[in-house]
Amino acid sequence: MRTAATHVVVVGRGLLGSAAARHLADLGARVTLVGPGEPADHAKHHGVFASHHDSGRIMRIIDRSPYYARIAAASIGRQQDLQARTGIQFSFPVGHMTMTNMDGYYSDLVETGDHFGVSFSQVASDDIADLFPFLSFPSGLRGVLESTTGGHIDPRRLIRAQCAALQDTGGTVVDATATAVEDRTGAVQVVTDTGLRIEADCALVATGAFANHHDVLPQPVAFTVQEHTVVFAEVDEAQAAKLADMPSIIFKQGDEIGQSVYVLPPIVYPDAKTLLKIGQSTGQIMHDPLRQITPWFQGTGDVAVAEWLEHDLRAMMPSVELGAISTASCAVTKSPSGRQFIDQFDGTEIYSLLADDGQVAKSADELGRIAAHRVLDGAVPTEYRDEDFAMRYQR
Ligand SMILES: Cc1cc2nc3c(=O)[nH]c(=O)nc-3n(C[C@H](O)[C@H](O)[C@H](O)COP(=O)(O)OP(=O)(O)OC[C@H]3O[C@@H](n4cnc5c(N)ncnc54)[C@H](O)[C@@H]3O)c2cc1C
Repeated sequence: MRTAATHVVVVGRGLLGSAAARHLADLGARVTLVGPGEPADHAKHHGVFASHHDSGRIMRIIDRSPYYARIAAASIGRQQDLQARTGIQFSFPVGHMTMTNMDGYYSDLVETGDHFGVSFSQVASDDIADLFPFLSFPSGLRGVLESTTGGHIDPRRLIRAQCAALQDTGGTVVDATATAVEDRTGAVQVVTDTGLRIEADCALVATGAFANHHDVLPQPVAFTVQEHTVVFAEVDEAQAAKLADMPSIIFKQGDEIGQSVYVLPPIVYPDAKTLLKIGQSTGQIMHDPLRQITPWFQGTGDVAVAEWLEHDLRAMMPSVELGAISTASCAVTKSPSGRQFIDQFDGTEIYSLLADDGQVAKSADELGRIAAHRVLDGAVPTEYRDEDFAMRYQR
């Protein structure tokens, strides 16, 4: 058990790192959060990238996995407090709908929804014309429509809110990339690309898909990186008004690439454009992330994937007039255990909050809380088990 005066450096100013930093500070630790902002021009950027440089992430509790439902429910349950505390709105509970032709998957969703007391209704393809006349699905599908806890979040604003709450509690945000995290027997030193050397009692590393880059981990961890392509379609004011009631959507016909897509309703982006977004739920495994990840993020995604995504978007919304189409690349990490690595590197004062499994924007707050307790109390909160978050190392 650490004392309240513990100084923790959190490396990675993403969704998980900012959440952990805020919870550490709320628990009484002295916190320095280190991470760069968003690159001005992805194509010319040679530093680290992030999986959250966007304005829309699906929010939902109902999931096939009770664990993912649980961490989402806990995070969504605290959104209002964080929004009120910071004055930053990042949650948009416009509803979420998952449609599927997979019987087992559908029953799992209904079971988790019931188990967690989520407010949802069961829907079928035939209901869609009445509910959302602008949507079109093949016949024979079933789905769940999660009303009050479904919708989308703005990941950039969520990070801004976590950082604002952190700073209000006395924490510090450092705009820099860590080039080394050194264990100093009972202490750590974090070196940054801006020439800083930050000494602290311990470090928590939450550097997302770039965790095995630079010298931020004592030893490489075993997650895979998946390439994701997204397609944006601009909509004008009239089309956006037509889609005012649109929920966020997952359309799942299988677990393989090409069998599942997600769609975000119109969102106003920082450049004032209103964009619909469609993306793939499963992406291609990146074979050599150390070499491939930077060029992947510098690019605009896979052309063939973008083509089928655009085709699927047009098929799902045949009456909607889509304007300019653009594409982007992103990447997620997939955990071999299916859970995050919230653990301590053997014999060091360095901890991890890694392996997002590609779906934890909505659940970042609870994962940050779990990691904060792991660092300060030496164990995850009692409703979870340390062994479920055990690190896996590369062999
Ligand atoms: C296309 C796409 C769609 C998604 N859709 C959803 C969705 O609908 N719903 C959902 O819940 N989740 C979704 N996700 C997943 C979600 O975005 C991730 O789970 C989340 O971003 C992971 O958070 P993180 O903090 O681990 O990583 P990141 O958000 O990537 O943050 C890691 C941070 O570490 C920083 N960093 C890296 N290296 C260093 C270093 N050496 N020093 C300092 N800082 C460093 C990076 O700059 C970055 O800011 C999606 C992801 C993608 C790519």
